[in-house]
Amino acid sequence: MRQKIVAGNWKMNLDYAEGLALFNEVSDLIKTDITGVQQAIVCSPFIHLQSLAALAKGNIAVGAQNAHQNESGAYTGEISAKMIASVGAAYVILGHSERRQYFGETNGLLAKKTDTVLKHNLKPIFCIGETLQEREANTHFDVIKSQLVEGIFHLSADDFAKVVIAYEPVWAIGTGVTATADQAQEIHAFIRKEIAAKYSQAVADGITILYGGSCNPKNAPELFAKEDIDGGLIGGASLKARDFVDILKVFN
Ligand code: PEP
Repeated sequence: MRQKIVAGNWKMNLDYAEGLALFNEVSDLIKTDITGVQQAIVCSPFIHLQSLAALAKGNIAVGAQNAHQNESGAYTGEISAKMIASVGAAYVILGHSERRQYFGETNGLLAKKTDTVLKHNLKPIFCIGETLQEREANTHFDVIKSQLVEGIFHLSADDFAKVVIAYEPVWAIGTGVTATADQAQEIHAFIRKEIAAKYSQAVADGITILYGGSCNPKNAPELFAKEDIDGGLIGGASLKARDFVDILKVFN
């Protein structure tokens, strides 16, 4: 059985007190509403991480939204994987489309970030996904394959097994437009097939592949019912405790 995960990406939202309040609300709702073994992950801004990691218990874990590729040094304003691990976070989102778009993150850079994150025993939530133009030009399968090959297919099978993949079509992020469950399933099955070809069917069968892009409590049941969709990476809806936990509740 693959691990079912619902990860919240708070992005650059919530000040310190607001973040703590939301996390406590989510934790309380999880205690009362979640009966399964699904994993909740809250990926907060860096300023919240230490406090949230200290509060995280049971099936709720904490992650960062980025990490620098280098170990340490003269990189003003950056945060290292070692620092993230040192405060008790367990996951790091890498390659989110906003990082690719606004900060020029390439597959090659993300391969380095993945290595550094894994070296510090953090689990990458590695995001891939095509833009609208790429889908309309029918190049989406090639784009996804390049993101996999150049970003994470250099890993050993042991390291690869620690990665969570998030398929996030860029045209569905924050737009209110969701990929249909069939569109998402088609890409998730493609990703799993590529993993099986590169590693093995056993490795492919064990990898959790999340869907992200305007996922909410209404559309999550249909998406998560698909064979290859193992949960979600949630942006907007993760800022509302009730919505986030209702999405997690789909796996009860
Ligand atoms: C995201 O940013 O990863 C995301 C999926 O955002 P939203 O749910 O708001 O589309």
